[in-house]
Amino acid sequence: MTTGVVYDQRMADHKCLWDLKYNEKPERFINVLKRCEELKLLQRCLPLKPREATEEELLKLHTPDMISILKDTDSISDEEALEKLSSKYDFLYIHPSTYQLSLLAAGSTVELVSNILDGKIRNGMAIIRPPGHHAMKSEYCGYCFYNNVAIATQHALDNRGLKRILIVDWDIHHGQATQQMFYDDPRVLYFSIHGFQNGAFWPHLRESDYHNIGRGAGLGYNINVPMNEVKMGNSDYMAIFHQLLLPIAYEFNPELIIVSAGYDAALGCPEGEMEITPACYSHFTNSLMGLANGRLAVVLEGGYCLKSLSEGAALTLRTLLGDPCPPLLSNLDTPTKSAQNTVLSVMYVLRRYWKCLQHLEVFSVQEINDATKIRENQFWPQIEFLGSDEKPESYPTRDICPVQDPKIAAELDAQLDVLIAGTCLDVQQYRIGFIANSTESIESLSEIVQRCHMLPADRTETGTGGKTSGILLNLIDSLVDGTCRSGIAIGDNSCNIVIDSLKYAIDDRSLQNVMFIDMRTHPDREIQKFFQEDVRILYASLFAFLDSCGSESVGAKKFTVNVGLQQSCGDGDVLSALFRILLPVAYQFGPQLIVVAADRSPSGGVSSECFGQVIHLLTSLSGGRLAVIFKHNKDPSSSLSGLKICVKALLGDPISMSTPKGTNQQLNVVSMCAIRNVIREQNAFWNALQFEVQVPDINVLIPPYMNDEKVLRYNPELLQH
Ligand SMILES: [Zn+2]
Repeated sequence: MTTGVVYDQRMADHKCLWDLKYNEKPERFINVLKRCEELKLLQRCLPLKPREATEEELLKLHTPDMISILKDTDSISDEEALEKLSSKYDFLYIHPSTYQLSLLAAGSTVELVSNILDGKIRNGMAIIRPPGHHAMKSEYCGYCFYNNVAIATQHALDNRGLKRILIVDWDIHHGQATQQMFYDDPRVLYFSIHGFQNGAFWPHLRESDYHNIGRGAGLGYNINVPMNEVKMGNSDYMAIFHQLLLPIAYEFNPELIIVSAGYDAALGCPEGEMEITPACYSHFTNSLMGLANGRLAVVLEGGYCLKSLSEGAALTLRTLLGDPCPPLLSNLDTPTKSAQNTVLSVMYVLRRYWKCLQHLEVFSVQEINDATKIRENQFWPQIEFLGSDEKPESYPTRDICPVQDPKIAAELDAQLDVLIAGTCLDVQQYRIGFIANSTESIESLSEIVQRCHMLPADRTETGTGGKTSGILLNLIDSLVDGTCRSGIAIGDNSCNIVIDSLKYAIDDRSLQNVMFIDMRTHPDREIQKFFQEDVRILYASLFAFLDSCGSESVGAKKFTVNVGLQQSCGDGDVLSALFRILLPVAYQFGPQLIVVAADRSPSGGVSSECFGQVIHLLTSLSGGRLAVIFKHNKDPSSSLSGLKICVKALLGDPISMSTPKGTNQQLNVVSMCAIRNVIREQNAFWNALQFEVQVPDINVLIPPYMNDEKVLRYNPELLQH
């Protein structure tokens, strides 16, 4: 199944007639399409026919006035009248084409989602303007007229009967309108990461802060991740993905994901002043593609630096098409203190609603009683609002966009050129190389093997343990040479062959660093011992060694990360270890190759689907260069569920999570302790692991702890937290 794209050339018509300095300008649309053309992406997509939204679709979420007011401007070229009308709304201009194009933007978004739900395309992108996420029920706002994403969401709820839709809004501005529309609806999980600066950032609303988590049945289903400083970058955003978005998304198990994809948090954008690199949008996208059976609709919102907007959007589309995630040019580092505080605040207000956050330890407020007396490993959430609660009568319509200092703009532009030129966009000839050291393995696997590229298994080498099969070396060659993106080997994965192949990758093929993950329920300690002094190999294991337990198996060494999960743990525990330890550490290590040793079928409480998801999530790293080793088994009746799902994950097939076994269960207490211990041991080495602190055991966002009476006036539901 393919990727769809929808756009309409007329969308370049919409512009401001009285002030050409508006950042929301036709070149935004034109340049995104141009970059997608240059990368030959559009020709690989199924083009969808743009269409106008119907009145019925609009009226589900907007008042009749919202249609008639704009309709009256249709084809009217009285500039003065258009400017006067525009001044009634916050940050907005109206053009004679605006009405038609707003209908087209909303209708095309519905069309994209319909095609995904019909199964005609797996995923897709709407390259549209005007954007939508600020368009409220009865008020245009922030360049937006009709709420494209919300209208498509409502369509999926009403006409397709969907019960779980995740909206991810990574535009730098809070999609306050989308939040309002689904605030008490538990069927829609709205997750927004946005600039806030404690209310000093547009749209200056209290409702954009983290403690606005929904109402009534929707409590816990509205998630705001407000950023209170500028210059937040990949490390901050990926921490938000790993610590919040992905764990919650996997627990929610959506049937559809719609992204309000603004690129105004990208490096160079004068509005956002953030520093996400264009390639990081591939990582955002890929990490969501394992969910919802791959049903992902990306819908363009803002983004006002033409270069980072067009590059970020094009790389998003490229990832939807299944090309490998380009490695980030700098490894991730510590998230800023401000981002850490935001993540902890969000965890604190949501921990009652999401099992995946129940790993948080609490401290007794009664004993401390005062935010000033907390200890180093304790966190006390605050609410601060610097915005105004007043609404002006009219809004300025000219010279309202921030203008970059030309010197800074030139520096940012040069930085972007370096990033774009340095980003690897190679695509290998084969997606999976397959190799096995015995024909009987292959015969029983013909259904799987057909979808892979067969590699010759005719090599023998003399290695650590004497003469050994060289099949893994052939596989590593194909990955390093770029013939295959990823690989599967079936053979003897006893420790010698793993050791030899890791050594080969480093010593003979000159890779700088390799990550080895032993995902078997009985990991091999010899491999760990062999590499424990080698800084080029990061050794990780998921399950506890049988001969030891607790912190003894952790091993407080930088390049040895033993998570020590229990054999009886469930999917939720495995994903927790992945999001809270393995992915942050891997992103900081930045391996050029990942080698995984896995069981042919996962045992204990872990499902094959969960194993497939782990493999999928690891493909974001090392440009997708991932080798998975399974043990040969002579018994043809033995289960191959792990192997089969691994092929699917590496091919980019959707992995059904229809029975989210474990992800929805309480976390295993022993495993939770093990994860906590590892984070405490390892955060001396890997400073991405910053989130193991204690939070208050009771609600401290209400009196007597929080005495700003305005907070409660605006958020009466805080009392229910
Ligand atoms: Zn925006």
